[in-house]
Amino acid sequence: MGRGYDSNCYLIVDEKTVLIDTGTGATDSLRERLKPWAGEIDLIINTHAHFDHVGGNRLFDAEVAIHVDDASEMESGRLYGTSELFGESASSKADVLLREGDVIETGELSLEVVHTPGHTPGSVCLVSSRGHLFSGDTLFSGGSFGRTDLPGGNTEELLMSLERLKNTRFEYLMPGHMDCVKEGMKHLEAALELLRRSL
Ligand SMILES: [Zn+2]
Repeated sequence: MGRGYDSNCYLIVDEKTVLIDTGTGATDSLRERLKPWAGEIDLIINTHAHFDHVGGNRLFDAEVAIHVDDASEMESGRLYGTSELFGESASSKADVLLREGDVIETGELSLEVVHTPGHTPGSVCLVSSRGHLFSGDTLFSGGSFGRTDLPGGNTEELLMSLERLKNTRFEYLMPGHMDCVKEGMKHLEAALELLRRSL
């Protein structure tokens, strides 16, 4: 669970060790908690190029994967204006460019990439073969969703992305902030209703 402004970070220990998002990198808590695996992380997957999700990439010597549409914002360190928002910048190289439908095999588990623009143009959700939806800032528990008022944000696209998520199968919602919950589809329905009403 992320602390302060850190995003949630999810560590998958399988044949490959994969870390989904890395927080701001500005707090010691993530580094401390991930210390036992720090040298063993093979791949970082960033759900999108905001500072509070990619800032910690620099703490790890691992390949970095991000959707092709968010790669240049991450590499340049512009991060859709979130560098200014947090008063800090971080850039990292995109080693793997993700696209809709890509599947990342970690060993026992596989993660399918669903492109869900709206919060940022290259936001992705990852659907695991065991029924997890790693949703970044596209969808949160409690029926809320990511902001669209930052550069690159688009509310209509977010609505379409949330609607597309209804076609995916998942039980556990693992969002970029806030709690992980079961019965994820109910949280998706609630977010869709709220977003439709706000348009
Ligand atoms: Zn974000």
